[in-house]
Amino acid sequence: MTDRLQQALLRIRPDVRAAHAYAVQPSAGVVKLDIMENPFRLPPELQRELGERLGAVAINRYPAERTAELAAALRMHAGVPSDVGVTLGNGSDELIGLLTLAVAQPGAVIVSPTPSFVIYQMCAEHQRLNFVGVPLRSDDFELDEAAMLAAVERHQPALVYLSYPNNPTGNLWDAASIERIVAAAPGLVVMDEAYQPFASSDSLALMARHPHVLVMRTMSKFGLAGVRIGYLLGAQQLVEQIEKLRPPFNISVLNAEAALFALEHAEVYAAQAATLRAERERVFEALKTLPGITPWPSQGNMILARVGDAAATFAALRARGVLIKNVSAAHPLLANCLRITIGTPDENTRLLAELPECL
Ligand code: PMP
Repeated sequence: MTDRLQQALLRIRPDVRAAHAYAVQPSAGVVKLDIMENPFRLPPELQRELGERLGAVAINRYPAERTAELAAALRMHAGVPSDVGVTLGNGSDELIGLLTLAVAQPGAVIVSPTPSFVIYQMCAEHQRLNFVGVPLRSDDFELDEAAMLAAVERHQPALVYLSYPNNPTGNLWDAASIERIVAAAPGLVVMDEAYQPFASSDSLALMARHPHVLVMRTMSKFGLAGVRIGYLLGAQQLVEQIEKLRPPFNISVLNAEAALFALEHAEVYAAQAATLRAERERVFEALKTLPGITPWPSQGNMILARVGDAAATFAALRARGVLIKNVSAAHPLLANCLRITIGTPDENTRLLAELPECL
């Protein structure tokens, strides 16, 4: 390395130099059941129609009107009143970054139950904020309400994240516990509803009762993970603050057009989500009957399960062409746990056929 390069590198924060980039597993040619994608594509005639729509987009212009139309369409899709604020992110990952930036003052604390979505902690660390993870109950991954209330009382967090359903455990938490935690929280509370299309519950009523609650959703699990559209709903006064930090043209015109097209065909995606919910139950019931694996019930499009040796089962499945996620190292409560994303019926059948040999 040249001296100049070495000098330049030393100007990068030491904690950044010591960090690792978010790793995405190679997945060419395998049955991909690792990161909660919707496995279904659009039917071919809709693919063609979308192609024409995208071809007609004015890509010489910066995004403006279509993004505003998308924000309005998402508000309609969620069924919230027009006075609810909405802002768009390049995936909800970006919104998590902006929310973190918005509260980034010396001493600010971010609280979330753990294990949960790792990006909450990652973004907190990027801003050098204190992240306090409150372990879930070990048997059923229910909130430890007393510990959450104690953390809120002690740290007075600027921001609390509740992933609802939770990734990677897949469950919803007790609604009365959430209500009490929300009531005690002095700052923002973000209900991260990435998996809402697969769940029996939503947090819009909670948001209506508590003005410091924001609801974050994404089109990724709906079926547009590649398009990168996340959105945040909540009190105008709060959403306006996030708007100030949002890069002005963060939503590509092509992404906005594709997302609008998808919302015009929301019934296609609703049918896909219904299939995935039914498949989730089929896979869950099948896993329950297999010796050597213990699945937890899920309200997402994934199932968390404990096996005897997660690394061995993961590797054996991978060798047989099925890619899942080994989440064992992410948190002590996840020892020997694997997370299985629900795929197409054929993909799930393949998983269930290969798995017994890998346990
Ligand atoms: N929230 C949760 C709970 C997630 O699991 C994910 C992705 N797996 C996201 C947010 C981010 O989704 P995206 O950036 O694709 O919108």
